[in-house]
Amino acid sequence: MHLARFPRARFAHLPTPLEPLPRLGAELGIDLWVKRDDCTGLAGGGNKTRKLEFLLGEALAQGADTLVTQGAVQSNHVRQTIAAGARFGLASEIILEERTGSKALDYVGNGNVLLDRLMGAAIRFVPGGTDMVAELEASAEAVRQRGGKPYVIPGGGSNVVGALGYVDCARELIVQADERDLRIDRLVTATGSAGTHAGLVAGFAALSVDVPILGFGVRAPKAKQEENVFNLAVATAETLGAAGRVTREMVVADCDYVGEGYGLIDQGVIDALTLAARTEGLLLDPVYSGKAMKGLIDHARKGAFKGERVVFLHTGGAQGLFGYHSQLDAALAPA
Ligand SMILES: *Cc1c(COP(=O)(O)O)cnc(C)c1O
Repeated sequence: MHLARFPRARFAHLPTPLEPLPRLGAELGIDLWVKRDDCTGLAGGGNKTRKLEFLLGEALAQGADTLVTQGAVQSNHVRQTIAAGARFGLASEIILEERTGSKALDYVGNGNVLLDRLMGAAIRFVPGGTDMVAELEASAEAVRQRGGKPYVIPGGGSNVVGALGYVDCARELIVQADERDLRIDRLVTATGSAGTHAGLVAGFAALSVDVPILGFGVRAPKAKQEENVFNLAVATAETLGAAGRVTREMVVADCDYVGEGYGLIDQGVIDALTLAARTEGLLLDPVYSGKAMKGLIDHARKGAFKGERVVFLHTGGAQGLFGYHSQLDAALAPA
């Protein structure tokens, strides 16, 4: 594989740090490390920034003037897309899906939404369950009608081009670990629109790195999530010139920690957020990394990672905490 063959705009702060989490690890009885992709540097950072380097590379090569994308109301992907557009002078047309049904003022107006507005995007809200692919096309057509040149980015930036960002992360992580003689036994990540997980799988496969990757799902059931990740990983490997290297067994998702649904938090998530914050000063997010940490904690406490050195990919999203103010406020109130 040779990533320099693909157009790329450079703006992420890379490499992101690989750091030990000794106090959280001791709490869980494992050797726990974190890959700090919450520190990618773009308007708060997060995992979408790596994908956007390749997506913006393609958008700029095509001469686009407007980015069109969609996400849930508190989407981190949308925040990072608008920021990347601002960096290169591209406008952003955004569609936010009211996927959780929450009308709470902090959810619809604070956190990521406040930052989206600060950075100056055109935003429209649509009800949960809307056909978002059709909405993307409608927005793109409206841009064309007024003489603009849209570049459509799918939800989460999860297509082959975006997944190249996580192929690069897979490479970066292994280089960092090898430089420090740090054997990695397992990589753990949240998995949603699948680009992160798929890019990591394709990257490891292309590099012949056989470190198992465990994705904790945040929305879809296991079979569907694994299918989405597998299909994208296969296509990504093909694009890399590593066709046939990704096998179905390489893709493992555990979707038992979703709880009530996408973007809905429960006590397990709040416990994960508070444990990471109080042992390491590490801020996770309510929708993705907090849910993945909820799963990691449960697995570790059941002995699933016994004797292993586990790297947790922190995919960012702490800005979304402010969208959950009322629920967190209630949970943090003294008993
Ligand atoms: C989007 C997102 C994820 C999930 O990544 P996908 O590539 O969509 O699977 C995980 N964590 C955070 C904070 C995110 O914003």
